[in-house]
Amino acid sequence: MQDDSQQDAWSLETLAIRAGHERTFEQEHAEPIFPTSSFVYESAAEAARKFGGHEAGNVYSRFTNPTVHTFERRLAALEGGERCVATSSGMSAILSTVLALLSAGDEIVASRSLFGSTVSLFDKYFAKLGITTRYVELSDMAAWEAAITPKTRLLFAETPSNPLSEVADIAALSALAKRHDVWLAIDNCFLTPALQQPIALGADLVIHSATKYLDGQGRAVGGAVVGKHDVLEEVFGVVRTCGPCMSPFNAWIFTKGLETLSLRMKAHCEQAQALAEWLDAHPAVNKVFYSGLVDHPQHELARQQQGGFGAVLGFEVLNGQEGAWQVIDATRMLSITGNLGDVKTTITHPATTTHGRLSDEQRAAAGISPGLVRVAVGLENQQDIQNDLARGLDALLAG
Ligand SMILES: *Cc1c(COP(=O)(O)O)cnc(C)c1O
Repeated sequence: MQDDSQQDAWSLETLAIRAGHERTFEQEHAEPIFPTSSFVYESAAEAARKFGGHEAGNVYSRFTNPTVHTFERRLAALEGGERCVATSSGMSAILSTVLALLSAGDEIVASRSLFGSTVSLFDKYFAKLGITTRYVELSDMAAWEAAITPKTRLLFAETPSNPLSEVADIAALSALAKRHDVWLAIDNCFLTPALQQPIALGADLVIHSATKYLDGQGRAVGGAVVGKHDVLEEVFGVVRTCGPCMSPFNAWIFTKGLETLSLRMKAHCEQAQALAEWLDAHPAVNKVFYSGLVDHPQHELARQQQGGFGAVLGFEVLNGQEGAWQVIDATRMLSITGNLGDVKTTITHPATTTHGRLSDEQRAAAGISPGLVRVAVGLENQQDIQNDLARGLDALLAG
């Protein structure tokens, strides 16, 4: 019989399949879904104990739900964190973390190359609450240090970056955070715990958009925060009170998604490496941005810190925006969409979509050139993906 007390001995592949499920009296093999908003009690006294938090147990699904809890325990085990709180989306994971930990007057130092909505959240909404953000080059440790002031409470980084595949040294960032007594949060969407475990490298918090690789098949929107018990208790307080909780249906999808995570991430990386090398050799491509290529400036750091190079890559084609749009519009299979982390390969033009809300200056500073195309490499046949891209690239050469 499965003995969960043995979990410490399990490797990541096993945890992804077996951690977190506490069987009910039905002895079900697969993880069940509990689509219920509330829970009932044997007596008024039991209700009082559970509402008062004097006895563990479910009260209301905005607070806790057994299906959501299964996902939380499984992801916490994979990330090596003490506790996980699931949220309705990746954005609400970031929102809940900052609301839990920061107050008016506090400052965030963040990498410049963040997900677009994260930048909007910081600059538009946190700024309104009196929480300001300074942006630095992801890989420039001196810039991180110089941006820290006595008001700084949080360092926030997304590594590797999207779509240029830049890498931050998480251990160095965490040493810096500890020296200044601030929190370090890492958005781990792009690699997932299968390829990178920021908590083992000293990060306090890991943030996820479960929408991406944790699901892996583009079925649901969700998020999560992982870290130590005391910090996560604060995040839980925000989710419980403000309401961005994960639905049991989505939690079930993510739980089952995790079961194939290591296999999928391995395959995604192999596919992306092959595509990056093929693109790198194509005469219509000026430059490929992928840390798995040996000439990437942070290839060595990526190799040490990551269990793989991920599956999101950028490449710059001839003829700027016109060339990029031509390559995208020539595809017959790839999905033209900003989403990523899916078995279906997606293609997008960052300058006019994911990074379209930035000013020209911000875009230039982030290295998003008009000719840049982003591909999130899926799990279709490698040759089919190349053929779909070759159509537009070859046409660019023909003029
Ligand atoms: C998608 C994404 C988010 C936001 O997640 P949602 O689930 O869409 O809210 C945050 N960070 C990164 C790196 C992402 O790719």
